[in-house]
Amino acid sequence: MKQILSFLVLIFLHSGLQAQKPIIGLSTNYDSSLSVPNTYVLSVLRAGGIPLLIPANTDASAVAAMVAAVDAVILTGGEDLDPLEQYNQEPLPALGEVVPLRDRFDRMLILEAARQGKPILGICRGEQALNVVFGGTLYQDIPSQVKGSIKHLQRAPREQGTHSIRIEPGSNLAKALGKTSAKVNSYHHQAVRDLAPGFKVTARAPDGVIEAIEKIDNPHIWGVQFHPEGPTSMGSDEFLPIFENLVKAAAELR
Ligand code: MN
Repeated sequence: MKQILSFLVLIFLHSGLQAQKPIIGLSTNYDSSLSVPNTYVLSVLRAGGIPLLIPANTDASAVAAMVAAVDAVILTGGEDLDPLEQYNQEPLPALGEVVPLRDRFDRMLILEAARQGKPILGICRGEQALNVVFGGTLYQDIPSQVKGSIKHLQRAPREQGTHSIRIEPGSNLAKALGKTSAKVNSYHHQAVRDLAPGFKVTARAPDGVIEAIEKIDNPHIWGVQFHPEGPTSMGSDEFLPIFENLVKAAAELR
């Protein structure tokens, strides 16, 4: 009888663990309210994950404990990265606002999540931060640095795609979306320039600007330059699989 009871308890515990949805940490802005746009929260919820905000801070042991408490990390969008501190280039006149403390937080978060083997999805600034932390550089300003560039800073609403991308067949992004081209939204004036060692380009805009990257030895460390959370939070299913891919990887790898 005792054996049967402990067997039932084991089954109960096991099913409870199976049912626990993966916790997806979201990096916040480094501002007075340590905030994150609701679009990220809504997208993770739609994908079957539990969103949890990771407040920007530069306490290394705190960041390590926060990463340990989540199953995957999304690096959210935001300001320009500090070129001198993050990739050793002098600032150009067209550089936008920089928040060095947030850069330092993102760096800690990325290195710690990679060390702990957690999936990482970088979105917009988050993709750029991934590239820089692993040794790459950025265009500080596409219009003044990329000849013949198309419009990457759209005025259309966030849920609207405005330019096309070609996606590398076999990449994590192609697998998630089930296609090798898409029309994406675009809210950036910076982009990956020199790709970080150990990474590959997985999508480009027609002007050659890099729109997605992934780590060659770990496709679950990846980033997109566009904002899939825009349409996803508005109910569109087109880019929802990006978040579902992350939630699935988080569940499998924990
Ligand atoms: Mn773009």
